[in-house]
Amino acid sequence: MPRHQSESIILRTFPIAEQDKLVVFFGRQRGIFKGVAKGARKFSNRFGSSLEPMSHVTAFYYEKEGRELVTVSGCDLLESFFELQAQVEISFTLGYFAELIEDSRPSLTEDDVLFRLLLQVLQALKSGGGLKFLTAYFEAWFLKLNGFLPDLARCRRCRGDITGSGWLSYNKDGAFCDGCTPHKKEEITPELRAFLGWVKKNPPPKERDVPYTDPQIESIHRVLKDLLVFHMERAPKSLSFLDRKFP
Ligand SMILES: [Zn+2]
Repeated sequence: MPRHQSESIILRTFPIAEQDKLVVFFGRQRGIFKGVAKGARKFSNRFGSSLEPMSHVTAFYYEKEGRELVTVSGCDLLESFFELQAQVEISFTLGYFAELIEDSRPSLTEDDVLFRLLLQVLQALKSGGGLKFLTAYFEAWFLKLNGFLPDLARCRRCRGDITGSGWLSYNKDGAFCDGCTPHKKEEITPELRAFLGWVKKNPPPKERDVPYTDPQIESIHRVLKDLLVFHMERAPKSLSFLDRKFP
Protein backbone atom coordinates (compact mmCIF):
# COMPACT_ATOMS: atom_id res chain seq x y z
CA MET A 1 0.00 0.00 0.00
CA PRO A 2 1.47 3.41 -0.89
CA ARG A 3 2.07 5.85 1.94
CA HIS A 4 0.55 9.32 1.46
CA GLN A 5 1.44 12.56 3.13
CA SER A 6 -0.46 15.77 3.74
CA GLU A 7 0.46 19.12 5.24
CA SER A 8 -2.31 19.52 7.80
CA ILE A 9 -3.59 21.24 10.90
CA ILE A 10 -5.05 18.99 13.60
CA LEU A 11 -8.61 20.21 14.26
CA ARG A 12 -9.42 17.81 17.09
CA THR A 13 -8.88 14.31 18.38
CA PHE A 14 -10.92 11.98 20.51
CA PRO A 15 -10.25 8.63 22.16
CA ILE A 16 -11.35 5.41 20.49
CA ALA A 17 -10.74 1.76 21.37
CA GLU A 18 -8.30 1.11 24.23
CA GLN A 19 -5.29 3.14 23.28
CA ASP A 20 -6.03 4.90 20.00
CA LYS A 21 -7.10 8.34 18.89
CA LEU A 22 -9.39 9.43 16.10
CA VAL A 23 -7.89 12.50 14.48
CA VAL A 24 -9.70 15.14 12.41
CA PHE A 25 -7.21 16.72 10.00
CA PHE A 26 -7.58 19.85 7.93
CA GLY A 27 -5.25 19.16 5.00
CA ARG A 28 -3.90 22.00 2.94
CA GLN A 29 -4.55 20.08 -0.28
CA ARG A 30 -7.18 17.58 0.72
CA GLY A 31 -9.52 19.43 3.08
CA ILE A 32 -11.10 17.60 6.01
CA PHE A 33 -10.15 13.97 6.55
CA LYS A 34 -10.18 11.61 9.50
CA GLY A 35 -7.79 8.93 10.58
CA VAL A 36 -6.96 6.48 13.33
CA ALA A 37 -3.67 6.94 15.18
CA LYS A 38 -3.02 3.55 16.71
CA GLY A 39 -1.43 3.57 20.16
CA ALA A 40 -1.59 7.37 20.39
CA ARG A 41 -2.88 7.20 23.96
CA LYS A 42 -0.05 5.03 25.23
CA PHE A 43 2.18 6.81 27.72
CA SER A 44 5.13 6.97 25.42
CA ASN A 45 4.10 6.85 21.77
CA ARG A 46 5.52 7.74 18.38
CA PHE A 47 3.16 10.69 17.87
CA GLY A 48 4.51 12.74 20.80
CA SER A 49 2.80 16.15 20.93
CA SER A 50 2.12 16.27 17.18
CA LEU A 51 -1.56 15.38 17.69
CA GLU A 52 -2.36 18.31 20.01
CA PRO A 53 -5.20 20.47 18.66
CA MET A 54 -4.05 23.07 16.11
CA SER A 55 -0.62 21.49 15.61
CA HIS A 56 0.72 22.21 12.14
CA VAL A 57 2.07 18.89 10.87
CA THR A 58 2.98 16.68 7.98
CA ALA A 59 0.72 13.67 8.40
CA PHE A 60 1.71 10.29 6.90
CA TYR A 61 -1.04 7.76 6.29
CA TYR A 62 -2.31 4.74 4.41
CA GLU A 63 -5.65 4.72 2.69
CA LYS A 64 -7.88 1.80 1.72
CA GLU A 65 -10.41 2.23 -1.01
CA GLY A 66 -13.96 2.54 0.28
CA ARG A 67 -12.89 3.26 3.84
CA GLU A 68 -13.66 6.65 5.34
CA LEU A 69 -10.87 6.51 7.91
CA VAL A 70 -7.21 6.52 6.95
CA THR A 71 -4.55 4.83 9.07
CA VAL A 72 -2.13 7.40 10.44
CA SER A 73 1.39 6.01 10.47
CA GLY A 74 3.24 9.10 11.62
CA CYS A 75 3.05 12.82 12.15
CA ASP A 76 5.95 15.31 11.92
CA LEU A 77 5.45 18.51 13.84
CA LEU A 78 6.07 21.63 11.71
CA GLU A 79 4.86 24.17 14.27
CA SER A 80 3.29 23.72 17.67
CA PHE A 81 0.55 25.93 19.11
CA PHE A 82 0.45 23.95 22.31
CA GLU A 83 1.02 26.96 24.59
CA LEU A 84 -2.16 28.62 23.26
CA GLN A 85 -4.21 25.74 24.67
CA ALA A 86 -3.15 26.71 28.20
CA GLN A 87 -5.21 29.91 27.97
CA VAL A 88 -8.79 28.81 28.42
CA GLU A 89 -10.53 31.50 26.37
CA ILE A 90 -8.08 31.06 23.46
CA SER A 91 -8.44 27.30 23.65
CA PHE A 92 -12.26 27.49 23.42
CA THR A 93 -12.07 30.05 20.62
CA LEU A 94 -9.80 27.69 18.65
CA GLY A 95 -12.41 24.97 19.22
CA TYR A 96 -14.96 27.34 17.66
CA PHE A 97 -12.73 27.92 14.59
CA ALA A 98 -12.24 24.15 14.26
CA GLU A 99 -15.99 23.51 14.43
CA LEU A 100 -16.69 26.15 11.76
CA ILE A 101 -14.11 24.64 9.42
CA GLU A 102 -15.22 21.06 10.00
CA ASP A 103 -18.91 21.94 9.50
CA SER A 104 -18.37 23.98 6.37
CA ARG A 105 -16.43 21.10 4.74
CA PRO A 106 -14.26 23.41 2.66
CA SER A 107 -14.03 22.56 -1.00
CA LEU A 108 -10.61 21.70 -2.33
CA THR A 109 -10.21 24.90 -4.32
CA GLU A 110 -10.79 27.07 -1.28
CA ASP A 111 -8.67 25.01 1.04
CA ASP A 112 -5.43 26.78 0.52
CA VAL A 113 -6.82 30.20 1.42
CA LEU A 114 -8.75 28.92 4.43
CA PHE A 115 -5.72 26.88 5.49
CA ARG A 116 -3.44 29.91 5.31
CA LEU A 117 -6.01 32.01 7.16
CA LEU A 118 -6.13 29.56 10.07
CA LEU A 119 -2.35 29.19 10.18
CA GLN A 120 -1.73 32.94 10.09
CA VAL A 121 -4.32 33.61 12.80
CA LEU A 122 -2.67 30.93 14.99
CA GLN A 123 0.74 32.52 14.43
CA ALA A 124 -0.65 35.98 15.23
CA LEU A 125 -2.17 34.68 18.48
CA LYS A 126 1.12 33.04 19.38
CA SER A 127 2.92 36.35 18.83
CA GLY A 128 0.56 38.13 21.23
CA GLY A 129 -2.17 39.46 18.91
CA GLY A 130 -5.50 40.36 20.57
CA LEU A 131 -7.97 37.46 20.79
CA LYS A 132 -11.21 39.43 20.19
CA PHE A 133 -9.82 41.24 17.18
CA LEU A 134 -8.39 38.07 15.64
CA THR A 135 -11.68 36.26 16.23
CA ALA A 136 -13.54 38.94 14.25
CA TYR A 137 -10.76 38.81 11.64
CA PHE A 138 -11.19 35.04 11.24
CA GLU A 139 -15.01 35.33 11.11
CA ALA A 140 -14.90 38.05 8.42
CA TRP A 141 -12.62 35.97 6.16
CA PHE A 142 -14.51 32.77 6.85
CA LEU A 143 -17.78 34.47 5.82
CA LYS A 144 -16.16 35.87 2.70
CA LEU A 145 -14.60 32.55 1.62
CA ASN A 146 -17.93 30.77 2.04
CA GLY A 147 -19.82 33.42 0.07
CA PHE A 148 -21.78 34.47 3.17
CA LEU A 149 -20.63 38.08 3.28
CA PRO A 150 -23.04 40.35 1.40
CA ASP A 151 -22.18 43.80 0.05
CA LEU A 152 -22.82 46.01 3.07
CA ALA A 153 -21.70 49.24 1.42
CA ARG A 154 -24.53 49.56 -1.10
CA CYS A 155 -28.28 49.76 -0.52
CA ARG A 156 -30.24 46.80 -1.89
CA ARG A 157 -33.20 49.00 -2.81
CA CYS A 158 -31.91 52.33 -4.18
CA ARG A 159 -28.43 50.95 -5.10
CA GLY A 160 -26.84 54.04 -3.54
CA ASP A 161 -23.65 53.93 -1.48
CA ILE A 162 -24.37 53.71 2.22
CA THR A 163 -22.24 56.33 3.92
CA GLY A 164 -23.65 56.54 7.43
CA SER A 165 -25.41 53.76 9.28
CA GLY A 166 -27.07 50.99 7.28
CA TRP A 167 -29.33 48.14 8.31
CA LEU A 168 -28.94 44.42 7.68
CA SER A 169 -31.79 42.86 5.65
CA TYR A 170 -33.97 40.15 7.24
CA ASN A 171 -32.39 37.46 5.06
CA LYS A 172 -28.94 38.78 5.91
CA ASP A 173 -28.09 38.97 2.22
CA GLY A 174 -27.53 42.72 2.04
CA ALA A 175 -28.05 46.09 3.63
CA PHE A 176 -30.48 49.00 3.31
CA CYS A 177 -29.68 52.68 3.65
CA ASP A 178 -31.38 54.73 6.33
CA GLY A 179 -34.04 55.99 3.91
CA CYS A 180 -35.00 52.60 2.40
CA THR A 181 -34.86 50.21 5.33
CA PRO A 182 -38.17 48.51 6.25
CA HIS A 183 -36.89 48.01 9.83
CA LYS A 184 -34.07 49.12 12.07
CA LYS A 185 -33.09 45.89 13.72
CA GLU A 186 -29.45 45.18 13.03
CA GLU A 187 -27.24 48.15 12.47
CA ILE A 188 -24.34 48.12 10.03
CA THR A 189 -22.07 50.78 11.45
CA PRO A 190 -19.49 52.69 9.41
CA GLU A 191 -16.87 51.01 11.66
CA LEU A 192 -18.01 47.56 10.51
CA ARG A 193 -17.67 48.52 6.86
CA ALA A 194 -14.25 50.07 7.54
CA PHE A 195 -13.22 46.91 9.42
CA LEU A 196 -14.16 44.67 6.48
CA GLY A 197 -12.08 46.88 4.19
CA TRP A 198 -9.16 46.79 6.63
CA VAL A 199 -9.31 42.99 6.95
CA LYS A 200 -9.11 42.57 3.17
CA LYS A 201 -5.88 44.56 2.96
CA ASN A 202 -4.02 43.50 6.08
CA PRO A 203 -2.62 40.22 7.44
CA PRO A 204 -3.82 39.20 10.92
CA PRO A 205 -2.11 41.62 13.34
CA LYS A 206 0.53 40.15 15.64
CA GLU A 207 0.24 42.98 18.14
CA ARG A 208 -2.55 44.23 20.36
CA ASP A 209 -2.43 47.73 18.94
CA VAL A 210 -5.25 47.81 16.35
CA PRO A 211 -7.20 50.78 14.96
CA TYR A 212 -10.43 49.77 16.76
CA THR A 213 -11.64 50.14 20.35
CA ASP A 214 -12.83 47.14 22.36
CA PRO A 215 -16.54 48.13 22.19
CA GLN A 216 -16.21 48.59 18.40
CA ILE A 217 -14.65 45.14 18.03
CA GLU A 218 -17.39 43.69 20.21
CA SER A 219 -20.17 45.17 18.07
CA ILE A 220 -18.42 44.08 14.83
CA HIS A 221 -18.07 40.54 16.21
CA ARG A 222 -21.78 40.48 17.12
CA VAL A 223 -22.92 41.18 13.54
CA LEU A 224 -20.40 38.75 12.00
CA LYS A 225 -21.48 36.05 14.45
CA ASP A 226 -25.15 36.60 13.55
CA LEU A 227 -24.30 36.27 9.85
CA LEU A 228 -22.44 33.03 10.56
CA VAL A 229 -25.19 31.47 12.65
CA PHE A 230 -27.80 32.45 10.04
CA HIS A 231 -25.87 31.00 7.08
CA MET A 232 -24.60 27.89 8.86
CA GLU A 233 -28.24 27.32 9.88
CA ARG A 234 -27.35 26.60 13.49
CA ALA A 235 -25.23 28.08 16.25
CA PRO A 236 -21.94 26.20 16.58
CA LYS A 237 -21.97 24.34 19.91
CA SER A 238 -18.61 25.82 20.83
CA LEU A 239 -19.95 29.33 20.20
CA SER A 240 -22.86 29.00 22.64
CA PHE A 241 -20.39 27.81 25.26
CA LEU A 242 -17.95 30.62 24.49
CA ASP A 243 -20.72 33.23 24.76
CA ARG A 244 -21.83 31.88 28.13
CA LYS A 245 -18.34 31.63 29.62
CA PHE A 246 -16.71 34.70 28.10
CA PRO A 247 -19.51 37.18 27.35
ZN1 LIG B 1 -31.49 53.02 -0.16
